[in-house]
Amino acid sequence: MKSQDFIDLDEKYGAHNYHPLPVVIANAKGCKVTDPEGKVYFDFLSAYSAVNQGHLHPKIIKAVRDQLNRVTLTSRAFHNDKMGLFLKKLCEFTGYENALPMNTGAEAVETAIKAARRWGVEVKGVENGKQEIICVNDNFHGRTIAVISMSNDPDSTVNYGPYLPGFKRVPYADADAIARAVTPNTVAVILEPIQGEAGVCVPPHGYLAKVREICTKNKILFILDEIQTGFCRTGKRFAWEHEGARPDIMCLGKALGGGIMPISAIVADHAIMKVFTPGSHGSTFGGNPLACAVGIAALEVLVDEKLDENAERLGKIFREEMGKIKCPRVKLVRGKGLLNAVLFEEKFEAWNVCLALRDAGLLAKQTHGNIIRFAPPLVITEKELREAIAIIKGVFEKIA
Ligand SMILES: *Cc1c(COP(=O)(O)O)cnc(C)c1O
Repeated sequence: MKSQDFIDLDEKYGAHNYHPLPVVIANAKGCKVTDPEGKVYFDFLSAYSAVNQGHLHPKIIKAVRDQLNRVTLTSRAFHNDKMGLFLKKLCEFTGYENALPMNTGAEAVETAIKAARRWGVEVKGVENGKQEIICVNDNFHGRTIAVISMSNDPDSTVNYGPYLPGFKRVPYADADAIARAVTPNTVAVILEPIQGEAGVCVPPHGYLAKVREICTKNKILFILDEIQTGFCRTGKRFAWEHEGARPDIMCLGKALGGGIMPISAIVADHAIMKVFTPGSHGSTFGGNPLACAVGIAALEVLVDEKLDENAERLGKIFREEMGKIKCPRVKLVRGKGLLNAVLFEEKFEAWNVCLALRDAGLLAKQTHGNIIRFAPPLVITEKELREAIAIIKGVFEKIA
């Protein structure tokens, strides 16, 4: 079968809830993927930063194989001999006292919302049903009904009503707007330290620290969604570390699964996590031994290979080199670590640029029409990065 045959199958039998670039991936290794015809591409999306450790990392694959010989699924009705080790490793990696494992990112966000609402009643003393959570414009926290109720993106929300009440949305990167939105019923503020899906929007330095201060002053939980920015992507283990603005709850996902399977979690200290009591929350697959084996290996790879330092160093080179490219349509290059984006002028259609990049051997996807995100696996070497930059340069300099 050829690439087009696989695309036709997706079109015919799938729901059309995505508009993928016409390319089929049949194999992958490290920061490269291969199509059925054997053409090799740099992967500059990394499954939206879920493949920070690179495709098929040998250490993670070994952990999977070993675990497949033992046990894969137990449910939480019983203990298993992997979950505790995973939770300990995740707590040590993040610097929190407790972790609660789920599967997808959206579930981690749901879990954080539930934690904050309960905490609001049981610790802060808000009347149940009156809890308010402050969120921000252009957020992306996932696709469930609760989560899209925070969104102002028409693509994600139109005709899915009724939406979940209890959210108040304010502009991003405006700490005063958050302060003004606070009421006695506010239990939490939730935001992304850098807005990935919105086009790698980096707030001005000091924003996160200021929000942290507002939350502390008003006895409000500060929730950061680090699902895309976390696990070394921005040059630190977590993006909040750039400002020392430690959140009360962190939502984690994507690269926690080491590019193998969905693994998500929230982490928080005991004073918050204690609101969960037996029967009050759960997931059949959350904390399964296979996922925990993968999670342990995924975290070890980040530490052993110092992927935070690699992202920091190579990110600087990437932005510097992109800044040198002569393309009159490019307005701005922005990002942190290896989470970067190129903004073209308003109304510019970046889809065609993504097709040209594909033909030249590099996969990236536009967001909001005129923005292309560049986020390779963090295991990429400087030599590979420079090869990829040469591809991007060749394509950009041909844009009329
Ligand atoms: C991808 C993403 C999510 C949702 O994760 P899923 O695993 O797709 O549910 C939530 N928040 C952010 C910031 C994300 O990038």
